[in-house]
Amino acid sequence: MLGSISGVIKTLPAMLPLLPYFRLTMQQFAQRFSNPFLKKAFPLLEYSIPFAPFIMHLAKHAYGFNRDIAWPVGGSLPFARSIEKRYKELGGEVNYRQKVEKILVEKNKAVGIRLSDGSEHRADFVISDADGRKTIMQMLEGKYVDERIRAICAEPPDETNWAVHVFLGVNRDLSNEPSALVMLLDRPVIIAGHENRSLEMQIYGFDKSMAPEGKGVIKVELISTYSYWKKLYSDRTLYDREKQKVAEIVIGILDNYFPGIKNQVEVIDVPTLLTWERYMGGTHGFANMPSKKSNIIASLLGRGQERNLPGLSNFYFVGAWATSTGALFSNAHSGKKVIKAICSVDGKKFLEEA
Ligand SMILES: Cc1cc2nc3c(=O)[nH]c(=O)nc-3n(C[C@H](O)[C@H](O)[C@H](O)COP(=O)(O)OP(=O)(O)OC[C@H]3O[C@@H](n4cnc5c(N)ncnc54)[C@H](O)[C@@H]3O)c2cc1C
Repeated sequence: MLGSISGVIKTLPAMLPLLPYFRLTMQQFAQRFSNPFLKKAFPLLEYSIPFAPFIMHLAKHAYGFNRDIAWPVGGSLPFARSIEKRYKELGGEVNYRQKVEKILVEKNKAVGIRLSDGSEHRADFVISDADGRKTIMQMLEGKYVDERIRAICAEPPDETNWAVHVFLGVNRDLSNEPSALVMLLDRPVIIAGHENRSLEMQIYGFDKSMAPEGKGVIKVELISTYSYWKKLYSDRTLYDREKQKVAEIVIGILDNYFPGIKNQVEVIDVPTLLTWERYMGGTHGFANMPSKKSNIIASLLGRGQERNLPGLSNFYFVGAWATSTGALFSNAHSGKKVIKAICSVDGKKFLEEA
């Protein structure tokens, strides 16, 4: 995220030679290999998406090389806790397990929230990190929309996506295994209604805090659709049975690569898009983004964000709805931008480091 025209101008000389790679996909680049295995395997290196832009692959290596991206030891919980710690040190207060149902509005000004337990909490500003569709259409009862906002609130298409994760806790030392693996299958296997020719997985043996000594965690990611799981969810027995079946198929395949792992599985956890929807409040799982085409130029310039709503003051969006991106750094940065904007409204100086 370059953020401004001057930022773009400064970075342009370094960006220009990279432009041809923006259009190139992983699949297209792989055609340059003469080795048949590389030709087949390389397109799957970015989330098993052959049409993923090759620049994404280059960028990740560059970020890694410069130590700009890394794995947070312990995974997402300690990562979130470190943010909570800093927030509390700065005087912030966090309340968990409190669902916001309504945003309170007086004279077209957001003045607080109502929780699902009925309690109301007044505030000078309301900032939503929740799903935009639900914030706009339910929490604000669709009162602050124009034609454009209505269009971006449209239900996302029912496309195939990363829909199911199979987490396995195994009584097996995985510390010498690679951190990620794409397993090419000898023959296609149908899992959750989708034909798989390979399996994408993460093996967390590199992080000792993920499992007790001598044990390990594997996550296998599978493609499916929201509607497939939504239909099953109407009958919890069928839904649970399908999750069990998915895990069994996956364990069976893994046993070919990790002989004996079938009998070493101690914990199985299978979240689906429905689990995400239930826990995180998104639409169709983690689809928290507006239904609009991404505009790379606008986002490079730090523009095109869905931060406000027409006719409503003292209200801001942050996170995936505001940025239309699925990356932590840009979503965290959107929060900083909003606080800066509020400081400016309040006539306060925004301090980069308190
Ligand atoms: C499987 C997976 C792997 C990913 N891996 C990476 C990665 O390696 N690197 C990376 O940069 N990004 C990754 N991402 C993307 C990243 O997780 C998201 O971009 C980021 O979490 C979005 O942040 P957010 O704050 O906008 O939304 P969220 O993280 O979804 O947070 C929204 C919060 O709002 C809460 N909420 C929603 N509705 C309500 C309500 N009504 N009342 C109260 N609270 C509510 C939710 O409970 C949640 O805590 C990954 C995403 C997924 C799904």
